[in-house]
This record gives sequence, structure tokens and C-alpha cells, in this order.
Amino acid sequence: MSGATTLQRVPFVNLARQIERLRPELVAAFEAVLDDRAFIKGPHVAAFEAAFAKALGVPHAVGCANGTAALSLALEAAGIGPGDEVIVPSLTFIATGEAVCHVGATPVFCDIDPDSYTLDPEDLLRRLTPRTRAVVPVHLYGTPADMGAILAIAADHRLVVIEDCAQAHLATYHGRTVGTLGTAGGFSFFPGKNLGALGDAGMVTTSDPDLAESVVKLADHGRLSKYEHDRIGHNQRLDGLQAALLAVKLPHLAEWTERRRRIARYYDARLRPAGIKTIVPPAGADPVHHLYVIEVDDRPAVVARLAASGVETGVHYPIPLHLQPAFRGRHGYERLPNAERAAARVLSLPICGEITVEEAAWVCDRVLDTLHPTGRRGG
Ligand SMILES: *Cc1c(COP(=O)(O)O)cnc(C)c1O
Repeated sequence: MSGATTLQRVPFVNLARQIERLRPELVAAFEAVLDDRAFIKGPHVAAFEAAFAKALGVPHAVGCANGTAALSLALEAAGIGPGDEVIVPSLTFIATGEAVCHVGATPVFCDIDPDSYTLDPEDLLRRLTPRTRAVVPVHLYGTPADMGAILAIAADHRLVVIEDCAQAHLATYHGRTVGTLGTAGGFSFFPGKNLGALGDAGMVTTSDPDLAESVVKLADHGRLSKYEHDRIGHNQRLDGLQAALLAVKLPHLAEWTERRRRIARYYDARLRPAGIKTIVPPAGADPVHHLYVIEVDDRPAVVARLAASGVETGVHYPIPLHLQPAFRGRHGYERLPNAERAAARVLSLPICGEITVEEAAWVCDRVLDTLHPTGRRGG
């Protein structure tokens, strides 16, 4: 179907295409911030917070410096601290575990479900101790975690639930947007995320007004007024400039998400019949495909062959958190077999809000040639 193509290379994420399309609006936003000099706090931050809250259908959205800060601010505002254990899935970006350490609590790593790659609720039950105070489900790859089961366990054991939504802007679970299901949600606007700033930025979402107020205060030096501070806080505010740039991009997020869904359906239709393992979301979950992940044997060889044929890939993530040197000594010698197996086998194919079906078809041809050189091309 891609016979007429002249493609030679498909990048993992095509940010250049997005930036070119939005360049005039981004430049205008930058000039607006230069003109009013609302660099810290101010109208650009307030407008983006309001627009993001509206897009999600959540009462409170508080901007902050990045996604890692969003998670640690949410944990701290929810009262999590030293002596508390916080359960975190082992297959995730390091920041999920770091945020727990930043508030002085102890991360307890938990295995994943091998089909959805998100936190396994049965393993969560096994990790509970009298010190467990919170759980941080990660909507990994844009796939909502099994929140029905997780929220039921959290209710039984009075756990705070901080959703790591860094990869899952606008994903829904039984019709509700992630970041509105637990105690609070933490979002990242790192440039490569589904909604990306031109630098670092993040957001905490919650329906709890007191928690939102605490996050505002903690992110801004524990301020009561300009030079009066009643808590030891942080400097983790969202920049006015990043907020203004994000406000330009936010109206396009739904359309980029639709494109990601269309491309993921296309990949599924081409790759699944060839026996390639892909993500199976939990029941009721509508993912936003931050990453399109397959499993392969002998990954280094597959990566090299795809790179030679022009397909850029990624690995998310090669080392699960319980095996990270940084967390050595914080985890026993327990194995987390599903996380370890996934870490050794996962491979992320190109996907982004601006990839075309023609490019996806070209990628599928190369992937099928690489994995099944003797035929079975499908499509
Ligand atoms: C990106 C990411 C974060 C951290 O976000 P930053 O904005 O880079 O600090 C946290 N968790 C997950 C799952 C992420 O992908």
C-alpha cells in the first residue's frame, strides 16, 4: 500500500513538523510575554491553568515547574512524608520513584500487568504494609491503569492515590479523564510529551480545594504574602512564558490525540496478525498512545536493523526502578518478573501527533521485514 512512497527515514517524534505549523502563534505568544513581562505567575499562568482544568473537566489545576515536581508537590500536599511507604510500579520513568524520595517517603516497587504494562492491582495488595500511605499508579505509554481495582484497594486501606499522568493527557477511564480519578494527578509538559512546552513545565490536578491551595503555596516558597512564609516550600512555579506557549498548543491536543489513536489502530491492524505482542489496555480504558510499544526477542539486533533501514525507535524503559542503581538498598532482592521481562523486550515505534498514515505504513513494512524476513507481511 506504500509502493509510491519516497520516504527514507521516520523520526521517533516529529517535533519540527509541529513547531513549523505553530510558529507564528508561538512567536506571537512569546512577544505577548515580552510586552507584559508576566514572567512569574500572572495572567498567562492563570489562563493556561483554567484552560487545562476545563479540557480535563477537573475543578483545580495548579501549574508547576515540571512533572517530577507535580508528583512530589501532590504527595507533599496530601501529607505524605518520612516514615510513609508509597507503592510505585517498577516499569516507569525514574521520576515516579524520585518524587516519592523527594518528600522523604519510601518507594515500594510493585510489578506490572504484562498486557497493559500498568500497575498490577494483585501485586499492589501483596506490597501493602501497616506503613503504606499512598500509591502512584502510572498511566504508562498513555494507557490508563486499572483504576477501578486500584481505587477499590485504596479505599479499603485509606491510601492517597496520586496518578502519574505524565504520558496520558486526555486519556479516559470509563469516560473520566485521568488526573480526576484519584486524590490528585501529576502532569508533565516535557517537550516530547503529548502536550509539550518549549522547556520544562508541569501541572497538578485535583478536585480537593485544600490540596490545590497547598500545592500553590508549596510551589511558591510556602508564601502567605510577599515576605511572609508559614511553611518551608520550594521554588517550583510554572513560568509565564511556558504557560503562554502551552496555551497555544492546548487547543490542538484533541486533534493530535485523534491522530495518535488512528495511527495506533493502524499499527495494531498490521502488527497483531503477524503475532507481534502489543499493548492491551484494561477494560474501560481509552488510551492516548504516548508511546506505541511492541515486544521483540533480541532487541539490540532489531533496533540496529530498524535504524539501518531508517526507522528510529526507543526503549521505555530498559531498567525497571527496582533494579536502578539509584534505588539500591531501598528494595530487597525480590524479583518483579513481569517488569523485568518487559524491560528486556519492549521497543517503542515512531508515533506523535503529526505522524502520517503513510509514514506508519512505511514503518510497518520495515518492522515486518525485520521481524519476519521470510514473508507474513500482512496489510
Ligand atoms: C516525563 C515523566 C515524568 C516526569 O516529568 P518531567 O516533566 O520530565 O519532570 C514522570 N513520570 C513519567 C511516567 C514520565 O514519563
